[in-house]
Amino acid sequence: MPEGDTVFRTAEKLREALVGHRLTRCDVRVPRYATVDLSGHAVDEVCARGKHLFIRVGSASIHSHLKMDGSWRVTPLTARADYRVRIILDTKDVRALGIDLGVLEILDRAYDFDVVEHLGPDLLGDDWDPKVAAANLTARPDRPIAEVLLDQRVLAGIGNVYANELCFITGHLPTAPVSAITDPHRLVSRAREMLWANRFRRNRCTTGDTRAGRQVWVYGRVGQACRRCGTPVRQDDSGERVAYWCPACQR
Ligand SMILES: [Zn+2]
Repeated sequence: MPEGDTVFRTAEKLREALVGHRLTRCDVRVPRYATVDLSGHAVDEVCARGKHLFIRVGSASIHSHLKMDGSWRVTPLTARADYRVRIILDTKDVRALGIDLGVLEILDRAYDFDVVEHLGPDLLGDDWDPKVAAANLTARPDRPIAEVLLDQRVLAGIGNVYANELCFITGHLPTAPVSAITDPHRLVSRAREMLWANRFRRNRCTTGDTRAGRQVWVYGRVGQACRRCGTPVRQDDSGERVAYWCPACQR
């Protein structure tokens, strides 16, 4: 699942491939923007903000959000674009394909960040601010911890994997209220460290052990032994997002 680290890495990949190069083809396969053609213009910047991506070209900004299944691929010019492709950007050397993007829109570059104005501090941003993030986290004391960690208005970049892993690491049930957090500053700092450590990794790791099958504490491990105490990990998929926890380590 794409989280802030995936988007950060995607931006890095697109930056390397596109920035400073003129587009030779721009094919937007979304009815509303089908007539937009940015070819002839050079790509100036690629930026990530939380889980949002911006490719700035001329006076336009291509805004995308990966949501559940989206991705961007950089391929040779010969690569085929199948029905899942929403946008094709060619330079003279490479082809960038935006696949299954949850959001794809072409914005006026001068106002493109308006769409991310509501976001809390970006965990991987230059302007990351743990004080603001910690204050946001506990602003409404009765909200469940996992839900608040996933709320991009509180802090931006966390998806369901990190939300579950952070609950484990801090010993809280995902459903516990944020008022149970004794040190909110420490929690948001752990979140930042986790995403930062993973920003260039292909296989996300929250345990510090990058060997296959050992990368996460609880996420996706229902029925398997807790890595700390051996108790089987539990799962609840009745909510909007699946929750995983160790009933002994998290209370
Ligand atoms: Zn345990």
